[in-house]
Amino acid sequence: MSRYLTPTLAGLSPYTPGEQPQDQQYIKLNTNESPYPPSPAVTAAVNAAEVEKLRLYSDPACARLLKAAAEYHGLTPDEIMPGNGSDENLFFALRAFCDEAHPLACADVTYGCYSVWCNLMHIPSHIIPLEEDFSIDPARYHGLNKTIVIANPNAPTGLALSPSAIEGILQANPDNVVIVDEAYVDFGAGSCVPLIHRYKNLLVVQTFSKSRQLAGARLGLAMGDAELIADLNRVKFSLNPYNINRLTLLAGEASLRDKGYFEATRQKIMDTRAWTAKELEKRGFALTDSRANFLFARTDRMEGGALYRALKEKGILVRHFDSPRIAEYLRITIGTPEQMEALVRALDELLEG
Ligand SMILES: *Cc1c(COP(=O)(O)O)cnc(C)c1O
Repeated sequence: MSRYLTPTLAGLSPYTPGEQPQDQQYIKLNTNESPYPPSPAVTAAVNAAEVEKLRLYSDPACARLLKAAAEYHGLTPDEIMPGNGSDENLFFALRAFCDEAHPLACADVTYGCYSVWCNLMHIPSHIIPLEEDFSIDPARYHGLNKTIVIANPNAPTGLALSPSAIEGILQANPDNVVIVDEAYVDFGAGSCVPLIHRYKNLLVVQTFSKSRQLAGARLGLAMGDAELIADLNRVKFSLNPYNINRLTLLAGEASLRDKGYFEATRQKIMDTRAWTAKELEKRGFALTDSRANFLFARTDRMEGGALYRALKEKGILVRHFDSPRIAEYLRITIGTPEQMEALVRALDELLEG
């Protein structure tokens, strides 16, 4: 760090993203991207004529994307805000609903960015440990008098709460915003979007990165009561009014309109997840009941960090968190069936004997 960095940031530890090797030599099961390409409708929408229009600013109101998203989710456009990835929307939400006097409550084992943003913005965090089996006990979130964020399904455990459990948390915290991060909800968990018209304190955040093949386009949606969305827009228009680029707006709209492709690809991921889980269980792995596009797995036959490194040497990248409670686990993104077969073969070679 330079001698000019503000001392208030000297102690900040930034988030470490999963590796993004720029050559193609790995089977990449480490950052929960889709193994499938975006819908052909996306490729058609992002065409040469649209590239020429990049000389013009994008629509700061994101009107066409919002119309498609509102139709898809059964909401009105003023109940939705697009973000440059759901990361940006989550950041806007923390900026809008937390400060030094309004802490953020979140789990000890969850998406790492929440605590990084708290440090960046000097928001105190109130850490609520997961249960022994990594589940969330909703009762621990009742009557907190704090802004709450819950990843549902949670990462990296993959475990999901039912919408009715989240509903109990909403009812027990009427004076606080409850942010539900549904990055993985399309892989078999229940969404809280249908609760939006009943709870003014609910903000649901979804992303196009995991189930819509658009991680590199950077797009997410925050959804909630129109007043909450207006609060997020207040932050957005105080920072970066053109936060979504022209090509991403078109890609997102095309993705939302191609329901068939979305349904087919998320079903393929769920089928491949079931196959992979069975193969790992046959080999003695312990797995959580993941409702996400990854498995969270451990084996007594090799320590987590060692298995991560051994797989990497065989050309397979998975994610290992050297963190309390989860250092024995690997988070393995669900790829194509062929990629998962290669993973199982590699495990057999590494663990035999
Ligand atoms: C991947 C992920 C995000 C970030 O998604 P982007 O839309 O790519 O910014 C947010 N929350 C969780 C839990 C995630 O796993």
